[in-house]
Amino acid sequence: CRDIIVVGAGQAGFQAAASLREAGFDGLLTIVGDEPVAPYQRPPLSKAYLAGKATAGTLALRPASFYADHRITLRLGERAALIDRPIQQLELKSGERLGYDHLILATGARNRSLPVPGADLAGVLQLRTLADAEDVQRYLAGVESVVVVGAGFIGLEFASVAAARGIAVTVVEFADRVMSRAVSRPTSAFFRDAHEAAGIRFAFGVGVGRITGADGHVTAVETTDGRAFAADLVLVGIGVVPNVELAAEAGLTVADGILVDQALLTSDPSISAIGDCATFPNSFAGNAPTRIESVQNAVDQARCVAARLAGRAAFYAALPWFWSDQGGWKLQIAGLANPHDLTVTRGDPAQGAFSIFCYRHDRLVGVESVNRPADHMIARRLIAERLPLVPDQAADLALDLRALIR
Ligand code: FAD
Repeated sequence: CRDIIVVGAGQAGFQAAASLREAGFDGLLTIVGDEPVAPYQRPPLSKAYLAGKATAGTLALRPASFYADHRITLRLGERAALIDRPIQQLELKSGERLGYDHLILATGARNRSLPVPGADLAGVLQLRTLADAEDVQRYLAGVESVVVVGAGFIGLEFASVAAARGIAVTVVEFADRVMSRAVSRPTSAFFRDAHEAAGIRFAFGVGVGRITGADGHVTAVETTDGRAFAADLVLVGIGVVPNVELAAEAGLTVADGILVDQALLTSDPSISAIGDCATFPNSFAGNAPTRIESVQNAVDQARCVAARLAGRAAFYAALPWFWSDQGGWKLQIAGLANPHDLTVTRGDPAQGAFSIFCYRHDRLVGVESVNRPADHMIARRLIAERLPLVPDQAADLALDLRALIR
């Protein structure tokens, strides 16, 4: 394999290129990315960046010199438009064609838009890219009240940054609790209480009916139960849609994300897919087709593909883990906790430091830790290596969990 092209200059695309060079790949290596900037970290966009503790410069995954030093050609601000599979060429929007021996699709995901009247008013914003974050930052400066649509990770991270700036924040959520897709009820309850104590107001079990405005700018959000919440800024955080169109139009199999096998190969053996755009058989979900949106997944899948292309065949089997910073709380999740049928608490939520151990059919499947980073690191090993830990042991603070992983 001589020429490798990566489509998407995000976390996964960057890592694939970096790991290929680390693994000794010596051929031509090109990353095509439609954003105008070199690969950067997204997680701080809703955390440190908005809180004024990070800048565009500090978000870069590597300095510009890295790409030159590693002979990685960055084609930024360029969009891949078509894959001509029979002759193994990638066509850019400009019409230029690049030949490949192997193509890595790392096209990520885009924000789901809110299909209601008024969603196009100025001040209705989303958060995915650095450009989005710059917009939000600019708007935040003069804002008194904010409505966040969606109580997922990004919505809550943004809500806590806004509340800390003295802005009145209301979070509108369709489900009956925060982060319902990702975490257990006890963890949801803890974060709801913590955010309410910080002054954030919640409206659960309702959707957005419409967004109203004056002079083209948002002024309020009307919920489906007839209430209206004042807003100078609306942050929509209702999930993402994987960028699969390029793959689908090339005839690759798509099921939610771009479908890959255990080696992260698509239905074409010359094309891999990784990161937010890929649906893979997940060994921690009984090999069910799974799409995961996280830095861990993007990085580990990139490394797996790089190892394969460098001649060390590997199946993807890394344990999923996640984190989210909300206010002073660091939430870390090991494994895929949902669904589960039993939860056990270790530590004391009232003290602000605890872990929730989630079991499915007597097996530990996920651990959610709040301000207990050591539990998180141990939990990763326990779940990944399927080490035994019965619920009574998980709750017993006298038991040193480290002893179980030695
Ligand atoms: P992306 O980072 O989305 O990169 C894909 C890139 O491909 C994009 O630049 C896209 O524009 C480009 N692209 C798409 N199609 C084309 C095309 N046809 N041609 C050229 N380029 C194309 N994860 C965590 O684990 N912890 C966190 O705390 C966390 N916080 C987050 C906070 C925010 C605000 C956001 C937005 C995400 C957060 N995530 C977090 C998720 C994490 O950032 C993503 O899972 C990760 O970035 C996925 O990497 P990726 O490379 O697969 O996709």
